Amino acid sequence: MTVWDGPVVDKFGRVHRDLRISLTDKCNLRCSYCMPPEGLPWLAKENLLTTDEIERVASVLARLGFVEIRLTGGEPLLRRDIVDVVARLSRIEGPEGPLRISMTTNGIRLDRVMDQLKEAGLQRLNISLDTVNPARFAELTRREKFEDVLAGIQAARDSGLRPLKINAVAMRGVNDDEFCDLLRFAQEHEAQLRFIEQMPLDAGHIWSRVTMVQGHEILEKLQAEFTLEPVGERGSSPAEVFTVDGGPTTVGVIASVTAPFCGACDRVRLTADGQLRNCLFAREESDLLTLLRSGGSDEDIAAMLRATISGKRAGHGIDDPGFLQPDRPMSAIGG
Ligand code: SAM
Ligand code: SF4
Repeated sequence: MTVWDGPVVDKFGRVHRDLRISLTDKCNLRCSYCMPPEGLPWLAKENLLTTDEIERVASVLARLGFVEIRLTGGEPLLRRDIVDVVARLSRIEGPEGPLRISMTTNGIRLDRVMDQLKEAGLQRLNISLDTVNPARFAELTRREKFEDVLAGIQAARDSGLRPLKINAVAMRGVNDDEFCDLLRFAQEHEAQLRFIEQMPLDAGHIWSRVTMVQGHEILEKLQAEFTLEPVGERGSSPAEVFTVDGGPTTVGVIASVTAPFCGACDRVRLTADGQLRNCLFAREESDLLTLLRSGGSDEDIAAMLRATISGKRAGHGIDDPGFLQPDRPMSAIGG
């Protein structure tokens, strides 16, 4: 038996097929639940994975059965060669044909590169938008970029890439009075809205289990104005999905904290500085960067991935008394 034989499976039988790559830890917004106003100590430039290195890692993972890559950050569109990254990754053959490439972005600058990204092979987009109120957006993100995000959403809509998703983090006292407005906005833009429970991943450690908005509260608020019907099986999808007023629009709730979906997790994460993480909440990382830069072979990369996955815990344990927030904030892990 070699490192190439069989799926990448952990101790709990979960087969891993989905890679999240953080392309940069930098961002042009400062969402309060993610980054402090002054930003963070950015990763050293020389430690960022090059596009050749990313392509190599993705090729090894495709050989090991991976079928999907999501590009994230930080803000992935800040990476200068983002179009080239997408083009190179989407040419890699996996077990089900070329790898499927998707991206999570705040939408700023998307209008300028949307056509090129689609041409390069990008298949799906998630755009983050937590409020449809411009003044609130400025307060929450500490930047006057609401119009830029709207332009990005419009470009994504015009691109025809579907499903187009909008992600909104639910926050008490911040946007919990506009869940229905967000859903109407998504409907008008042919997008599928996904509410996300806030997780303890902020650099400022402001998250509170007691005050966070829980998934069931989100649904209750939406049900006051919309008829929601659950949509079938969710597979490895983190969202519980509902049709809105009979469809075709859907809305989803990603209740990572109150209804974790760890049992179906098929993801592994690669940080912008080349560290492999088997979970958003992992306390350990595997140093792929050093392996890549010290002449490691493809077999060595495959072996490191398998070892990382075999150490994966059953769940994130946010509700466990001994839970510790990871040292890296979300922006440096890749959401
Ligand atoms: N900058 C891009 C964006 O905002 O879409 C990609 C990176 S961002 C870290 C990815 C996703 O994580 C966003 O939808 C964001 O709202 C979400 N996120 C960030 N911090 C979070 C937290 N503490 N809890 C839940 N979601 C969070
Ligand atoms: Fe930037 Fe995304 Fe974090 Fe907001 S959530 S600060 S857009 S990385």
